[in-house]
Amino acid sequence: MNASAQNSLADPSVCIPVALQLIDGKWRESADGRTIPVECPANRRTILQIPRGSDADADSAVRAALTAFERWRRVAPLDRGRLLQRIADALESRAEELARIVAHETGNAIRTQSRPEALMAAATFRYFGGLASELKGSTLPLGDAVLSYTRREPLGVVAAIVPWNAPISIAAMKIAPALCAGNTVVLKAAEDAPFGVLLIAQVCSEFLPPGVLNVITGIGEECGAALVSHPLVNKISFTGSTSVGKGVLAATADRVLPVSLELGGKSPAIVFKDADEDWAVEGVAGSMRFTRQSQSCTAGSRLFVHESIYDSFLEKLAVRAQQYVIGDPLSEATDTGTLISGKQFEQVRSYIEEGLAERDVKLILGGLPPTEGPLSQGYFAQPTIFASTSNAWRLAREEIFGPVLVAIPWRDEQDVIRMANQSHYGLAGYVFSKDVSRAIRVAHEIDSGWIQVNQGKGQAFGQPYGGFKQSGLGKECSIESLLEDFSRLKSVTVSLHL
Ligand code: NAD
Repeated sequence: MNASAQNSLADPSVCIPVALQLIDGKWRESADGRTIPVECPANRRTILQIPRGSDADADSAVRAALTAFERWRRVAPLDRGRLLQRIADALESRAEELARIVAHETGNAIRTQSRPEALMAAATFRYFGGLASELKGSTLPLGDAVLSYTRREPLGVVAAIVPWNAPISIAAMKIAPALCAGNTVVLKAAEDAPFGVLLIAQVCSEFLPPGVLNVITGIGEECGAALVSHPLVNKISFTGSTSVGKGVLAATADRVLPVSLELGGKSPAIVFKDADEDWAVEGVAGSMRFTRQSQSCTAGSRLFVHESIYDSFLEKLAVRAQQYVIGDPLSEATDTGTLISGKQFEQVRSYIEEGLAERDVKLILGGLPPTEGPLSQGYFAQPTIFASTSNAWRLAREEIFGPVLVAIPWRDEQDVIRMANQSHYGLAGYVFSKDVSRAIRVAHEIDSGWIQVNQGKGQAFGQPYGGFKQSGLGKECSIESLLEDFSRLKSVTVSLHL
């Protein structure tokens, strides 16, 4: 079957080039013909149907990847890198199309989120393509009669599973290093945001041999679980919630598979009293990712502000957070789009209801999502800030994955470090102070994989990105990902006596 472009039913101005699975270089329906609808979160209409992949689809994709692996692993790394660079060029030339599709399916605003994400996805292929020459080994000096060296080898078939919140950049972050290292890939797209990932697959398929990259679609518990438990898969790279990630880890224990997990977070942002200024407010607002409706694993959603500036800082933050223009994700005027789905919307709403009902908690900004006017037609939520003295209640402990910030006052540095570390998560953290020595000292004390001082920005290539504690295992976005997550090191020792 050929993939043919269709207009979205939810907004005919958005053209979807492909809504089928890519298996062995061919575009396919699901083996049993079943489909699921994908909804547009800005207007709750169905965009299109996608295949509801099953065990049979996961199996065909893994077998295709295994067959392709035998040849792909023998392509010289520099040639693989060159192909990735050509994919990067092709993705860049289709970045605007990609950005519109992702804005439409995720509800992420095109100017602030989807366009930068599309460009980042292309740049990810360029970055990892350029690292191909780093797949090198070393020699061990055992004397003139022995040659002892190491070599980097691919792992085999990589199963990659991605969420919906930044679907194409996370997909690129798995596909590009996995292919560069000589693996082949079966990627399971998120059910709520498959179309951008399928466009990336379409572009890749113009350059790669059949079976090197396969993409399946459908429900996590069905084709996702089938992929995770498939006996011919050699590595799993999963990004998603901590609860599903734990299940993935458990399902692979029997086969002792290498697993990388990028999981949830509830990251602390600590503001010292010398930071009661606009630059820190901007950094905190950035760290909270309000422009992605805070559907970000690194959102600084536990804000600790020194008690002496607590009221004035929250006042400034509320003014700043109110300035974000919420609206149509496809409009250039919009800063902040919609939550992804009805399920996510209900979850965020129930957290806000709980916050509103809590005694001793004060609502500083926002509240329940709008129920009237144009924003009530989609899953729009508003930046919401609760002032609380407790770090222990549910809203301060659990990942809400929506624009709900809990602000807690503190007095003593050791106390705030202790509170910041009182979490089973350890993904990110933020410190704001003009005293950089103090800020660095605190950064070193926070039990998280990535701390930013005096800023709240996104990831940069080269920075090993990944969580501590129940936020994950492994590092992405960096040479460490290419070498440690997607290749294995073999030692070879040769006697030269003969
Ligand atoms: P999720 O765990 O529900 O789903 C993630 C992916 O796993 C989806 O493709 C889903 O279909 C699949 N899946 C679900 N059940 C499965 C199963 N039993 N077996 C195999 N696959 C299964 O997460 P989500 O709601 O899509 O995404 C939000 C979560 O992702 C948040 O917790 C967020 O923090 C996390 N996240 C983490 C990072 C990071 O880099 N650490 C980045 C983005 C998102």
